[in-house]
Amino acid sequence: MIKLDQIPVKQLKGVSALKEKELHAFGLFTVNDVLLYFPFRYEDYRVRDLTEVKAGEKATVIGIVRGVPILQRYGRSKSRLTCKVQVGLQLITATWFNRHFLREQLTLEREVLLTGKWEPSRLQLTVSESEFLDQQKSSGKMDTLQPVYSVGGKITQPWIRKLIAAALDQYGAMVEEILPYALIEKYRLMNRAEAIRLIHCPGDVKSGQEARRRMVYEELFLFQLRLQAYRALSHRRQAGIAMPLQSEWIREFAATLPFELTDGQKRAINEISVDMRRKYSMNRLLQGDVGSGKTVVAAIAMYSAVRAGFQAALMVPTEILAEQHMKSLSRMLEHTNMTVRLLTGSLGERKRRDLLAELQMGLADIVVGTHALIQEDVFFNKLGLVVVDEQHRFGVNQRSILRRKGIQPDVLTMTATPIPRTLAITAFGDMDVSTIRERPQGRKPIETYWLKPQSLERALQFIRKQIAEGRQAYVICPLIEESDKLDVQNALDVHMMIQSAFPDLTVGLLHGRMSTAEKEQSMSSFAANEAQVLVATTVVEVGVDVPNATIIMIMDAERFGLSQLHQLRGRVGRGEHQSYCILLADPKSEVGQERMKVMTESNDGFEIARRDLELRGPGEFFGTKQSGLPEFKLADMVADYELLEQAREDAAALVATESFWKDAAYARLVDWLRNDPLFQGEQID
Ligand code: ADP
Ligand code: MG
Repeated sequence: MIKLDQIPVKQLKGVSALKEKELHAFGLFTVNDVLLYFPFRYEDYRVRDLTEVKAGEKATVIGIVRGVPILQRYGRSKSRLTCKVQVGLQLITATWFNRHFLREQLTLEREVLLTGKWEPSRLQLTVSESEFLDQQKSSGKMDTLQPVYSVGGKITQPWIRKLIAAALDQYGAMVEEILPYALIEKYRLMNRAEAIRLIHCPGDVKSGQEARRRMVYEELFLFQLRLQAYRALSHRRQAGIAMPLQSEWIREFAATLPFELTDGQKRAINEISVDMRRKYSMNRLLQGDVGSGKTVVAAIAMYSAVRAGFQAALMVPTEILAEQHMKSLSRMLEHTNMTVRLLTGSLGERKRRDLLAELQMGLADIVVGTHALIQEDVFFNKLGLVVVDEQHRFGVNQRSILRRKGIQPDVLTMTATPIPRTLAITAFGDMDVSTIRERPQGRKPIETYWLKPQSLERALQFIRKQIAEGRQAYVICPLIEESDKLDVQNALDVHMMIQSAFPDLTVGLLHGRMSTAEKEQSMSSFAANEAQVLVATTVVEVGVDVPNATIIMIMDAERFGLSQLHQLRGRVGRGEHQSYCILLADPKSEVGQERMKVMTESNDGFEIARRDLELRGPGEFFGTKQSGLPEFKLADMVADYELLEQAREDAAALVATESFWKDAAYARLVDWLRNDPLFQGEQID
């Protein structure tokens, strides 16, 4: 049987050589392309009751001519025609522009179908389309939803409507199903032929929506299938490390912790160890809100890798974080004989050389570090696992350099900015994702207040009260992006202001231009409660953990993005005490005000990321075009996100079965994959 994607468009009625060329310019080469050229919206010609139409809305109504039409002409070809028409119980004025020829036809008592914009205050309908109901030749639009396609050049809306209708008539029945039957059942999807027909001419809104749902799912599923199949194939051929992990180790380690692991943590650890045992290299993303306890999960993974006889590296974005992870890891691994080392840029030359030797000889088991970890002269003896914290600070290149240093080490990436990341990952499909949704028990949500800058005095009093109770506070300086110098000056100013407000307290300072030693000094005196307040720039944004700090005041909060505000807020609420976040902001834009509201309303990083995405739009979120995110014909990355996730799971499950590659039921899908450039030169069987 001939396939629809092999029938050229010129086979269709009404396609001249000229039109054919135009269609090609639209990317429409075959009948299949034409059938899959979906409308981007519908025009609603369903007859309505005028009393239900809102001001300014476009609607279709039936009327009876009740007056004599009045024609005004102006200019050479311009005209305005008005006529009294009865619609339902109302007598309204129908107005046409440049349709002078209708004057003769608007005879008393004639029934007329009118589509136009309704202005109730003047009882006027500005008509864009009309037809007489007693006419032989009707447009057939009455009571339908008409598809609206993207058109241009010689391709007009009516013409392409006709073309697609003809294509459906002639070839619609030849459309074959492509989705596996089980998935059609699972989601109660329309069959493909019907969906394609109804998406072009839905009988009603419901069937249009159902048709769209089916085609959106298909689009997302095929997209995911391609990625998942590719990944499955690369797993097959990749030589990775199969670490002989024992479940016992995890239990032993967990028993030394002062708390119970949450279910989310357990699940993540489980998924990670399954990956590490396998003989291909893991590429997994661990996402969880700030404070969800990702570090412990990473520690267990590193501990397991070392017990299995490998080295592990933890890469973090800043030196402060490296120091902090170094400390907490050393503490967690105290009961073992594992050696944990710190490698940062500020390590002295001698110490650095010694450490490099240790790493190369396999004397150091775990190394924590910044970018310094990926310098050319750093070699490992047996690197088995790389953990990357807060991956948005590391580029793909940096990760791949590190990867190359080992024998295809397993890579675990941790991030606290969930949805957008997932969205990207779902879109790129090259990572597995583990998610920790819950927080450790007993954490109270952080109370967040939005104050105008004039209320600074009140905010300071509140901070003072907290400190009197033994707590500590962060004050985050406004972000000045244009200049490092201004940034520092600004931090100094804020520091002075806070210090003079609290003359009896010690107010620390932390900014990007300080030396590592100064930063370290500042952090440790804050951690030890020698300083009660820490004035800081966004360097404290990620990971810093001082559980006694219960209040964070963010100045000029409108200058920060939502995700960043949430990250900053995550610096508090890490201990047993009720914590607070004060946003000082006077945003002028609506979006800015909305952001502050979102912060006061939600403590959930997933929710915040979603709202952020909504407020900014995916383009901006991902840095517009550079994101390389796929563009879908029908699906919308944001609106159809849940379906995208489902499609991803379905596709992954399908390619994981042996029968997928062999069973005749999937032959069409496998065929479809084979034709994809991504699989050229791959052995698919
Ligand atoms: P994240 O990196 O996800 O932001 P951390 O790993 O820094 O979170 O954990 C935040 C705090 O919660 C740490 O002080 C950690 O010791 C503690 N913590 C982690 N897991 C648990 C748990 N299951 N129960 C109680 N506290 C936990
Ligand atoms: Mg962390």
